[in-house]
Amino acid sequence: MKYTGRITLLMISIMVSTIEAFSEKTTKWSILEALLFAVISFLLGWIYDKAIYYKNKAELSESRLWKLLKYSPEPIIVYQNEKIVFANDKFEELVQFSSTQVIGNSIFQYVLQEYHPIVRKRLLEMCEVNPNLDRIELKIQIKHNQVLDVEVSSAPIIFNNKPAVEMFLRDVTKRNRLEDELRKNEELYRFITENTTDLISYLNPNGVYEYFSPSCSCMLDYKQEDLIGKNLFEYLHPEEVEKVTALLLEADSELDFASFTHRLKKNDGTYMWVETNARTIRENSRKLEGIVAVSRDITERLEKETRLNETNMMLRYLSNMDGLTGIPNRRYFDVKLKEEWNRTKRNSMPFSAIMIDIDYFKKYNDLNGHQAGDDCLRQIATALNETLKRSGDFAARYGGEEFVILLPETDEQGAAQVAELLSSNVKKLNIPYSVFETEPIVSISIGCATLTPDDKLKPEDLIKLADSRLYLAKDSRKNQLTFNQLTHLG
Ligand code: GH3
Ligand code: MG
Ligand code: MG
Repeated sequence: MKYTGRITLLMISIMVSTIEAFSEKTTKWSILEALLFAVISFLLGWIYDKAIYYKNKAELSESRLWKLLKYSPEPIIVYQNEKIVFANDKFEELVQFSSTQVIGNSIFQYVLQEYHPIVRKRLLEMCEVNPNLDRIELKIQIKHNQVLDVEVSSAPIIFNNKPAVEMFLRDVTKRNRLEDELRKNEELYRFITENTTDLISYLNPNGVYEYFSPSCSCMLDYKQEDLIGKNLFEYLHPEEVEKVTALLLEADSELDFASFTHRLKKNDGTYMWVETNARTIRENSRKLEGIVAVSRDITERLEKETRLNETNMMLRYLSNMDGLTGIPNRRYFDVKLKEEWNRTKRNSMPFSAIMIDIDYFKKYNDLNGHQAGDDCLRQIATALNETLKRSGDFAARYGGEEFVILLPETDEQGAAQVAELLSSNVKKLNIPYSVFETEPIVSISIGCATLTPDDKLKPEDLIKLADSRLYLAKDSRKNQLTFNQLTHLG
C-alpha cells in the first residue's frame, strides 16, 4: 500500500493524543502538543512510504533490465571493472563459447589487436556525462580462430548498483562480405569496361545507347557522350537494319542471346565490321529491361579469312589442275565424271566420252627431246580445250600422252562431230615429227562412246568403252576415230 506508513503513524499519534486527553486535564498546550505529534507522525509515515516506493521501483527496474538483457534478440554483454560480467545466450551463440567460459574475461581477449585502441577510447567515453553512443565496427575472434565482423553499440548502465557498460553486438560478416564482393565486382567490371578494346554498350529496349565503353574513341573515333542517347540504327549499315530490327523484336519476346556480324559507322563515315554478342536483361516479369552488347572489330579476321579462302581456292585449283598442260587433271576428271553422270542421268540424256592418245609420241620424244615433247603436250591440250564450246564440255589430261573429254547431254552424232573437230584442230597445230618420215605431223587417235546413264550402268563403263574403242583405233592404224566402226580421220 502506498500510504501504509503515513496512515499507521497518524493513527498511532491520534491514539496517543486521545489517551493523553483522557488522562490529563486538557489545556491549550496539550492540544498543540497532540497536533505537533500528529504532524511529525505524518511526516515520518510519509518518509517511510517514499523509501518503500523507491525500493520497490529500483527492484522492479533491475528485474526489467535483467529480462531485457537476458532475452534480447541481439547478442549483449555487460562490461564492468574490465571484465565481462554478463553475456546473454545470443552472445554465446555468436562467439560459440558458453557464458561460464566468457564471464570474467576481458573483452580484449576477443577483439582483434588493431581494434583495441578504438574500443578503449569508447569505454572511456562511456564515463563522460554525454557519452558517444555511435556504433563502431570491429572484428572479433571467436571459437576455432574464426573472425567475425561486428557492429557494436554501447551505453553506460548501472548493473548490480555499480556503473557498467552494456554492449550490443550485431554480426555483419555476411553483409560485409557481400558488400566486399559487390565492390570488387563493380571495380572489376569497371576495369574491364574501361580498359577493354571491345566495344561494350548498354541499350534500352528501343535500341538507344545508355552506356558506351571508352574504347569507342579509338575504335570508332567518337566521344562517349556523342553516342549516349543515340539510337543504334543511326550507326548500322543500311544492309543490316532489317536483320537487327528482327533481332530486337525477338529480344522483346523470348530471345536472350544473339551473336551476329554487322557493320558500325565510324565518325569519318566509313564502316567497321564487328562481331556482336548481345544478351538481354529482364525484369522479374521477363519484361525486357535492356541489352548488353559486346562488339569486336573483326576487320583483321575478315581479311585473314579472305586471304585463307583465296589460298584454299588456289590450292584446290592447283590440286585439280595438271601442272604441265594447265588443263584439269585425272583427279578432277574423276570428280567431274561422277557429277556430270548423275546430272545427265536425272535428265535421262545421252552422255558421251572421248578418249584421245597422241600417235607415236614415244618416237616424238626420242627424236625431238623431252622438252619438245612437253611443249607438244601443252599445245595439244590447249587445242583440245579450245575446241570445246558448250559449258558442260570438259577436257582433262588422263595421263601421259592421253586426254579425255566429257560431253554431257550429247549423243553419238554430236560426239563424232566434236571428235573430228578435235582431230582437225590438232592437225592444224602442224607439229612436225621432224625426221620421222612416214608421219609428217603429229596426229591423235580417238575412241568415242555414248551411253544413256541408268541404274544398271556406272560412269566407269562409259570410260572403259571409250578406252577400248581407242585401242581398237590404235590397233588398226593410227590417226583413227573409233565409234562403232573405224573411221580414218582427215
Ligand atoms: P602409240 O602411237 O601406239 O600411242 O605409241 P606411243 O609411242 O604414242 O605410246 P607409248 O605408250 O608407247 O608411249 C607414250 C609415250 O609418251 C611414252 C612417254 O615417254 C611419253 N610421255 C608420257 N608423258 C609424258 C610427258 O609428260 N612428257 C613427255 N615429254 N612425254 C611423255
Ligand atoms: Mg598411250
Ligand atoms: Mg600414244
